[in-house]
Amino acid sequence: MTATNTTPEPPKSAGEPLGNSASSGDRIPARDSQFLQQNPHLQDLQDPYLQGPYLFDDPLGPLDGDLEGDLDVNLDGSLDGVPKTARIPHPSAFDQQHPPAQSVIDSCVHCGFCLSTCPSYRVLGTEMDSPRGRIYLMDAIANGEAALDETTASHFDSCLGCLACTSVCPSQVGYDKLLADMRPQLERNVPRNWRDRLIRTLVFNLFPYPRRLQAVMPGLWLYQKLGLQQVVRQTGWLKKLSPQLAAMDAVLPNLPAKGLNPIAPRQIPAQGKRRYRVGMLLGCVQRSVLPQVNEATMGVLSALGCEVIIPPDQGCCGALPAHQGQENQAQDIAKAMIRAFDGVQQDKQLDAIIINAAGCGHTLKEYGGILRDDPEWQSRGAAFSAQVRDIHEFLAEVVTAGNFDGELRAIAPEPLTVVYQDACHLLHGQKISTPPRQLLAKIPGVELREPMDASLCCGSAGVFNLLQPEIAEELGEQKVDNLLATGAQVIASPNPGCTLQIQKHLRERDQDHPDAVLGKVPVYHPIQLLDYSLRGEAIAIQSSEG
Ligand code: SF4
Ligand code: SF4
Repeated sequence: MTATNTTPEPPKSAGEPLGNSASSGDRIPARDSQFLQQNPHLQDLQDPYLQGPYLFDDPLGPLDGDLEGDLDVNLDGSLDGVPKTARIPHPSAFDQQHPPAQSVIDSCVHCGFCLSTCPSYRVLGTEMDSPRGRIYLMDAIANGEAALDETTASHFDSCLGCLACTSVCPSQVGYDKLLADMRPQLERNVPRNWRDRLIRTLVFNLFPYPRRLQAVMPGLWLYQKLGLQQVVRQTGWLKKLSPQLAAMDAVLPNLPAKGLNPIAPRQIPAQGKRRYRVGMLLGCVQRSVLPQVNEATMGVLSALGCEVIIPPDQGCCGALPAHQGQENQAQDIAKAMIRAFDGVQQDKQLDAIIINAAGCGHTLKEYGGILRDDPEWQSRGAAFSAQVRDIHEFLAEVVTAGNFDGELRAIAPEPLTVVYQDACHLLHGQKISTPPRQLLAKIPGVELREPMDASLCCGSAGVFNLLQPEIAEELGEQKVDNLLATGAQVIASPNPGCTLQIQKHLRERDQDHPDAVLGKVPVYHPIQLLDYSLRGEAIAIQSSEG
């Protein structure tokens, strides 16, 4: 029996969605959804309990892998005429520690509206690397119909965690919650090969620890200054040795000397009348690699009447381990961050805790969930999260309160075209898209341009571009194509990961076309442009590294 679709196709864009669309009440034949045809390797999956090939449950008994069989899957997950409750129960392959919630899995109606927005689906074109396919797979694992192994893990490793699917899903399926529970399951239950282990050990033991990151900065700075990086890039030997290490090298920008010893002040007084007392997070990558963004943030906050408090013992926000399923590490880091800010709030509560990195901001707002297993820490985490504001969000509140009274001046002698690049964890994770645009539009002479596919991930996605460089490469190319196609003179990016990814692609275009102006578009954080404007200074638009 075949389903009849009554709704129009979901909007198609460059990625050509391959899935079906359906409204509530329709049924999706698995065969037509291309779910199985695009994933022939699933035929090789062994049912761990029946010792046979896995496909879907069959009401008459275990499936024999017959792809031509009538595999109509109803929207409630049941097979043709057979309610879901009649599926043969197998023990779940998940462990008992917060498996993805079945109620959330079941809320997906398989309509496929999310497919065209999914970057991994755009690049790989396979249903199993789409939100809908991954939810199917979680359901199969939860019901013991698929194993939790390297093959199934690969379809979650290819997910960027960009959350674009959550923005478009008409059923409001909490894919973010599913993914947050799925990744720790993979980390606990699926052994990684030695290469993956090596890279992950390096990443998880270096990036979330600002002091360690700081300790390797002088070595990296020398590596660049002595010309070794250029040799490594030209010979391409690192790529042959490890594409992941080569990807790390490729995103490394020209390190500023002041990033080698970034001593942040502990307190910055408000200029003029003090209206707010705010805490500020420095971020790990931001403070080491893009210290100018933190300087600009302090400058803008102070100019607008904020006393800025910077706890000296603050570490990482925990975004990286949280996004990669390193649950215990993320919890420890979150607790340390809460303690660091409690230390400066003993006498007087802060009005807000400000962060200028989109990815960090999203995680800081999730502390209640990250610490859910301990009631005391859960409530401390939720209270901390309630204070967190992305810098654009906070400045929008300052505008609304009528306290944005700094004098903004032009930052270029001529009118300046700027394209704002949405960061996924700001746009989809925190649902913040208007405030950055409104703030940029306030700068005299700035004309904003919008890129195609503004909501599509640039491929950075935390450390995704280091762990899955090939997919990230294609997405980075697409993103830079779309940004440059606007003809804007400046790119404004609110997240360090996106900034480094975009700069990398601009740099590579420079190498390919030494005389082209294409790669001469600088990338600034919006707060840097505001800072220039408040100080009445012109920006430099000669290099791609703002
Ligand atoms: S996640 Fe949402 S948009 Fe995607 S298939 Fe399921 S219900 Fe449809
Ligand atoms: S989080 Fe992003 S990459 Fe992952 S399924 Fe959703 S849209 Fe696709």
